[in-house]
Amino acid sequence: MNIINIKDWGLGIEFSKEMPFVIAGPCSAETEAQVMQTALGIHSMLSQPVSMLRAGVWKPRTRPNSFEGIGEVALPWLKLASRTTGLPLCIEVATAKHVELALKYGIDVLWIGARTTVNPFAVQEIADVLKGVDIPVFVKNPVNPDLQLWLGAIERLYNSGINKLAAIHRGFSVYGNQLYRNVPLWEIPIELRRQVPGLEIICDPSHIGGKRALLLDISQEAMLLDFDGLMIETHINPDEAWSDAAQQLTPKALNELLQQLKKPHAAITDPIFLNKLEKLRSHIDQIDFKVLELLAERMLMVREIGDYKKDNNITILQMERWAEIYRSRMAMAPELELATEFIESLINAIHKESIRQQNQIMKVDLPEILK
Ligand code: PEP
Ligand code: MN
Repeated sequence: MNIINIKDWGLGIEFSKEMPFVIAGPCSAETEAQVMQTALGIHSMLSQPVSMLRAGVWKPRTRPNSFEGIGEVALPWLKLASRTTGLPLCIEVATAKHVELALKYGIDVLWIGARTTVNPFAVQEIADVLKGVDIPVFVKNPVNPDLQLWLGAIERLYNSGINKLAAIHRGFSVYGNQLYRNVPLWEIPIELRRQVPGLEIICDPSHIGGKRALLLDISQEAMLLDFDGLMIETHINPDEAWSDAAQQLTPKALNELLQQLKKPHAAITDPIFLNKLEKLRSHIDQIDFKVLELLAERMLMVREIGDYKKDNNITILQMERWAEIYRSRMAMAPELELATEFIESLINAIHKESIRQQNQIMKVDLPEILK
């Protein structure tokens, strides 16, 4: 894919090496005064310039009978706020009608929300009305942790001729109470970046965290993982917000958060630094090779045991033994300074491969008639 980077979207944004690209604005546009005061508050944060305004005009809410967005009347308010502050404006679109209205009012950038990305019909409808239109689009991840759906939405837009594209990572929905509103599963946007090199990814800590106190940590993590920017919900009076009150920041709090943030360099050219890094990395390489060789040795034993089980006609899974392996390896976590979650997923992966290998040994040949 030949995707155009945000700095080349022609929006007149100034980019800094030291500061992240930041999109800020309310979850929802509510009143003309709220939109303008929030935009002015964001704009007056001199220590960290925000690059783009955001606001939801049509809100896809999980349950009915809650505020579902103010609709078209908010578009002139937002345009005025954008003109007054000189900040380009992005809004969410979920239907062809939303796109038509956004284009009619000259909105600069569109975004596709998580509840729309999950639905290929809805994404295709948006992609179809955008054929021949030169407008940048952000694609949020789908609510469920499905990289293919996220990729699919990006491809549908790209196939319609939209090449000013970037992704927004807003976390993934899981059932039950937990720390995050939407778990980050950072490995998914990292895999997206690996599969679509050049695609920029913005992190939306507001919808990941769901509460103010988590936003700094999530934003910092995004910076450490070399995300290309942040989208942070900002409201002149967050506690009174009509949607997502617990996660929105005042412009002042946003300023504070951005000042606390450390943005490391993505790449460095200093030869002394690179030399040392190279040495450390080659040490890591050696360790990884040893780990893999040890695992291969383990699998050799696994196959030997597989043969033995086969000869004695006993099941692969011996629950007591597996419970003991699990217990004893997990118990090593504190001493080894490894997270129990890490040991758990590692030992599960090893066990899965061990079972697969023993299955190969023990499985019966498929009769012709079943092939
Ligand atoms: C939003 O940005 O306000 C929003 C509705 O986000 P998401 O689609 O990520 O839930
Ligand atoms: Mn929101």
